[in-house]
Amino acid sequence: EKSPIRVLVTGAAGQIAYSLLYPLSKGDVFGHDQPIELVLLDIEAMLTVLDGVVMEMQDCALPLLKSIIPTADTDVACKDIDVAILVGAMPRREGMERKDLLRANVKIFKAQGESLDKHAKKSVKVVVVGNPANTNAFICKKYAPSIPPENFTALTRLDQNRAQAQIATRMGLVPQDVKNVIIWGNHSNTQFPDVRHAKVAGKGVYEAVQDDAWLKGDFIKTVQTRGAAVIKARKLSSAMSAAKAIGDHMRDWWFGTKGDEYVSMAVPSDGSYGIEKGIIYSFPVQAKPDHTYSIVQGLQIDEFSKEKMTTTLTELQEEKCSAEEFCGY
Ligand code: NDP
Repeated sequence: EKSPIRVLVTGAAGQIAYSLLYPLSKGDVFGHDQPIELVLLDIEAMLTVLDGVVMEMQDCALPLLKSIIPTADTDVACKDIDVAILVGAMPRREGMERKDLLRANVKIFKAQGESLDKHAKKSVKVVVVGNPANTNAFICKKYAPSIPPENFTALTRLDQNRAQAQIATRMGLVPQDVKNVIIWGNHSNTQFPDVRHAKVAGKGVYEAVQDDAWLKGDFIKTVQTRGAAVIKARKLSSAMSAAKAIGDHMRDWWFGTKGDEYVSMAVPSDGSYGIEKGIIYSFPVQAKPDHTYSIVQGLQIDEFSKEKMTTTLTELQEEKCSAEEFCGY
């Protein structure tokens, strides 16, 4: 039997975690032969709720789940972990400015970065989900200098899945028939869902869909604002689909992407496509079974795309500046 891997989920009493913990613990992400030790972090006030989650996890009677450690202590949570899924973040309350949200989250992710630096395995793979996800990941990386920067990522897979689903629905196909959709930039409404290089059943998407106005207009808008549409309808933010996307992101990073296919992950820029180095920007990436990944090179960027990629970069640069300003707190 394989030795267990230790997986941390933060915000473990929240609704995304509630949809994530079952598939994660039954082998859907790291394989059906990979035992798991779960570490569940939430804030002190949520520990009673977290107890309930632990009871439910025990009652699922899952063969791969070797142990569960619930805690409100970040240092305990980070101890010897192989994977960190950072879902917990300060939620945006009504009337809250983006800056206030950022200020609160910088504190959380600075502390978690420091703790990862001290206690996690140096090979730890980190995915940040809590918003503003890219900038939270940037801060976390900054305060964990002993861990390779490329181990810090943020989730844009839900945006990719949403884009694939939009195209597939339009064509009467399933999302898996749509390949190589790219999400560029920030996980926010400035993100750029790009189908210029995507394929539908082997054909270019522009050729297959035959509606440039839709692809350059409502399609992009729908993907950018899908989160808000779910909140409006459900009165709660997306959780099931977010959890599914976290699983997709980690599984592809862990096991590698298939053939020539690529997926979108927000990762530290290495300067590719003229994106400022170090910024956590969503790129098309390919991963290998040894858990390494690289940014797909050489894609042609037209004027339309260039402008959209710059808009979302500018937002990330501004978030980075504010975040660094708050770091003194
Ligand atoms: P959710 O589980 O629904 O969401 C958690 C975070 O994921 C939010 O920041 C949310 O951002 C973000 N997110 C990113 N992408 C998406 C997406 N596509 N769809 C939906 N959400 C997305 O929140 P809950 O309030 O149910 O639970 C959060 C938990 O985190 C609470 O139990 C809280 O106590 C905990 N927490 C833990 C901390 C810690 O472990 N140190 C620190 C702070 C909170 P958005 O708000 O923009 O939707």
